[in-house]
Amino acid sequence: MLPDTEEQLFGRGVVTKSTNSADLDPETARMVDVACAILKERGKEGVKTSGRRTDQEQIALFAQGRKPLGVVNALRAKANMRPISEAENKYTVTDCNGVTKKSKHQSGEAIDYVPKDKNGNPCWPPKSDPRWMEIAEVFELAGMESGLRWRKADPPHHQRRTV
Ligand SMILES: [Zn+2]
Repeated sequence: MLPDTEEQLFGRGVVTKSTNSADLDPETARMVDVACAILKERGKEGVKTSGRRTDQEQIALFAQGRKPLGVVNALRAKANMRPISEAENKYTVTDCNGVTKKSKHQSGEAIDYVPKDKNGNPCWPPKSDPRWMEIAEVFELAGMESGLRWRKADPPHHQRRTV
C-alpha cells in the first residue's frame, strides 16, 4: 500500500533536537517568539517540534521513506536521533536533501509547530483540522510564511520570508 498522501506531505512526526529560539537566526527567533506568545494567550498553545537542524539531521530526514530502514537509522544514529520504525519509513518527510538543496531549518530560518492533543503531546492531525489554520494565521501575523499555503502543503512548517 502506498503511504497516505497527506501524512506523507506533512513531515508527520518529525522531531529534531533543537527547538530553541536561541538557536534560530535572530530575526526568525523574534517572529517565532511573537507567534508563540499570541497562541499561548489565545489558549491555542502548540509544540515546537523542529527548529534549527544540523546538516546530519537534514540528511537523515531526507533518507526517510527513500532508503532502507537500516540505512535511515544509521544516518539517524549519526545525527543523535532516535531510530524510527518500518511504518514510519513508509513516509518521506522533506524534499530538501540537506546538501545540494538545503532546508531553511539548516540556516535557522524555520520552525515546525504542531497542535497539542488532549494529553498535551504534539500531534499531527489531517490538513483539514482547523487548528492548522489558527496556527498559520498567527505565524503569518508575526511576519512568517506558512507551509500550510503551499501547493504541496506542509502545515507544521513556518519560515522566514525570502526577501
Ligand atoms: Zn519545517
